[in-house]
Amino acid sequence: MWASDGNRRKICQLKQLKLKEAIVVETRRMTQIIAEDIEKIEELKALNAKYKKLSFTERLRQLYIDFPLEDIMVTSSFAASSAFLLREVSIHQPNQTIHFIDTGNHFQETLDYKDKLKSLFNLKIKTIRSSAAEQALIQRDKTWSKDPDLCCKINKVRPLEAVKRQHKVWISGLMNSQSNHRATLNIFEFRGGIIKFHPLLDIIASELESYFVIHQIPAHPLLAQGYDSIGCTHCTHKGENREGRWKSKEKTECGLHL
Ligand code: SF4
Repeated sequence: MWASDGNRRKICQLKQLKLKEAIVVETRRMTQIIAEDIEKIEELKALNAKYKKLSFTERLRQLYIDFPLEDIMVTSSFAASSAFLLREVSIHQPNQTIHFIDTGNHFQETLDYKDKLKSLFNLKIKTIRSSAAEQALIQRDKTWSKDPDLCCKINKVRPLEAVKRQHKVWISGLMNSQSNHRATLNIFEFRGGIIKFHPLLDIIASELESYFVIHQIPAHPLLAQGYDSIGCTHCTHKGENREGRWKSKEKTECGLHL
């Protein structure tokens, strides 16, 4: 049965009303997002200005004043330079949890080094990993050789997502000197839904070396064998800086810090 002209007009008016309401709701939502983004940009600008002039140790001390412990997340791969940040964190906040992502492909030397630093700095380490089924599939498939981005995503990026959602700030040990990408970073950045804090960003290699010597920190055992940067066994070769990571592949980052 066909609608009369009057009914057609009513239906048309109703549709227009619904469309107007939808536009108002969407406009409010976009305005809210833009306001939050501006607030975030202003917050980061203020934090960067405040922390830029501080030393790395002052930056960490200040962070634990500016943010509550439960908002702060720390991860460590217990690699070549990890002990630097871990010692500083353990001094400024002994109750800080250190998240370790177990990819199932770490060097035994890294796992032993983790245990050594744990007892040396009295660290509270929490291990996270992808599911047993995912890890078994990756081992069978040797995904790192075919699609290392996917392998890193399943093994590293995804297991950390839930932890990230529970925190506001993520302390990282990234340094400008480690790669072209890392040279572009700021002390505070907003990435992947969390504020990234890089207190060691402007540390130079000689300061790092002196720190290990002055505080008698044991070095990762693979450093002496020519590995400057240490990740999973399948994707780590000997080499300077990060040249031994994903050798002969375009990949330079696991994706955690992009
Ligand atoms: S570093 Fe290699 S083995 Fe480790 S998660 Fe990434 S692709 Fe997989």
